[in-house]
Amino acid sequence: MQINTENQIPAVQSAVLNALMDAAHECGQLRITCPQCGSADVHLIGQGDHQGNQVYIRAGDGTHVIRPMPSLGKGSAVFTIYRCETDHGWVVVQRFDRGSTYRSIQCVDLPYNIPELWRA
Ligand SMILES: [Zn+2]
Repeated sequence: MQINTENQIPAVQSAVLNALMDAAHECGQLRITCPQCGSADVHLIGQGDHQGNQVYIRAGDGTHVIRPMPSLGKGSAVFTIYRCETDHGWVVVQRFDRGSTYRSIQCVDLPYNIPELWRA
């Protein structure tokens, strides 16, 4: 990830810290549910990004870097990995492409023993 200028770093940090503090007080929260069974018992398994020829994944079982990643012909993406308590897995992908950002939900099979991110 490229960091632009020294003047932009504090603004980004401030914005994220403010968002985290607001979220800790349940301001504007939206409860995530499983896209397969509707359960609200959802656990955070990991997150990451796809930029250029690299995929970076931070998950409960560690950090994974996939490089080289073949081009998908699209812009950069960030994603979050979830699992419900009945073991349905899915990845929410937000990808930039030609001036717009799209969100999609992809159901996936996750390794049964992958721990939750917050317990890592
Ligand atoms: Zn489910």
